[in-house]
Amino acid sequence: MTADFVIERADLVATCAGPAPRRGAAQREITAVRGGSIAAYEGRIVFVGPADALERQVHIEPEAVRIDARGCTVVPGFVDAHTHLVYAGDRRDELRQRLEGATYGEIAAAGGGILRTVEATRAASEDDLVRAARPRLDDMAASGTTTCEVKSGYGLATEAEIRQLRAIRRLDAAHPIDLVPTFLGAHAVPAEYRSRSDDYAAVVIDEMIPKVAASGLAEWCDVFCEASAFTPAQSAAVLRAGTRAGLAPRIHADELAPSGGARVAAEVGARSADHLVFVDKEGAAALAAADVCAVLLPIAALYLKLGRYAPARMLIEGGVPVALGTDLNPGAGLSSSMPFAITLACFAMDMTLEEALVAATLNAAWSLDRAGTIGSLETGKLLDGVVVEGDPTDLVRVGGSAIRTVVKRGKVIYSR
Ligand SMILES: [Zn+2]
Repeated sequence: MTADFVIERADLVATCAGPAPRRGAAQREITAVRGGSIAAYEGRIVFVGPADALERQVHIEPEAVRIDARGCTVVPGFVDAHTHLVYAGDRRDELRQRLEGATYGEIAAAGGGILRTVEATRAASEDDLVRAARPRLDDMAASGTTTCEVKSGYGLATEAEIRQLRAIRRLDAAHPIDLVPTFLGAHAVPAEYRSRSDDYAAVVIDEMIPKVAASGLAEWCDVFCEASAFTPAQSAAVLRAGTRAGLAPRIHADELAPSGGARVAAEVGARSADHLVFVDKEGAAALAAADVCAVLLPIAALYLKLGRYAPARMLIEGGVPVALGTDLNPGAGLSSSMPFAITLACFAMDMTLEEALVAATLNAAWSLDRAGTIGSLETGKLLDGVVVEGDPTDLVRVGGSAIRTVVKRGKVIYSR
């Protein structure tokens, strides 16, 4: 066995090894190795284990990159399971409006919200979208993200949606972070279809989904199931059409009020139901029975000032695998930091640090159908990892970042 990249003598390696997804009590299992080293060859892990076994079992090339991780913890690279990374325009003023008491609904009714980003994104070129998104990806890398899901949904017209998906593909090729593309044509009802949501859903189903599927630019189909966007029946119809075209379903569910989204997720066999701030016990039972992953996005609940968070304990105890994402977006997702999502998971949603770590890595990878190649530090998988100075608890420290080095496919992509 030969290695060209080594992370050695970490105080702790939290491998988060599979099987995936982890649910119930198993979501706390991070399969840690004390005094551990990791070796990779051409981006893939060839060894994870006790530091003293490394030199005996692996031939380390003389010119191999060697990272001394004494005093550090190594965790898998974070997988951000839900982002709206690609957009144009600026809606930070809406944050100030919320601080003065305006709600999501009031801001949207006054011409703000998603439709304002749609206007700006429709006016932007593919180059503009790529240029605007790149520094956001650099920020994510500095916070330890090595793979992220990215949605369209700010075009809401066939060409504009495809332009966003093309920008996602270019960013995936140009940046070390791997991007997983999702078509979200049913993100909102565009202004030109106001009070004709059935007509718009028909455009998504009959025109957009076939074109997007034929383009090969998306893997997933998503829908915003919420009173202000699409009904459970419309959502199910969109996701079923996506499935028929080869786009696997995921859904924005029960974010601002009980929307019936969790039940739709179970009915259509979605891989994930996201947000779930208002999911009830029956919804959770439906998710567990249908093997749907709950992707929780506490950063959005915080910046939207919802006054509550998804019932993570109820979901975990009900046997639903829980993953995390940032929901990076121009309106309410003002942080692209997975460590911040982990911090809120622990201190606002009562998850343990181990549960949150598995949620940010292995379960998030499973929610994107990538658990075979990423999400844990195991031989055969890509070496995507984060070297954290200190203990795993340093991940929930706010202020100076504890992240010292971020590795993607056996290459350093960020180092402090
Ligand atoms: Zn979203």
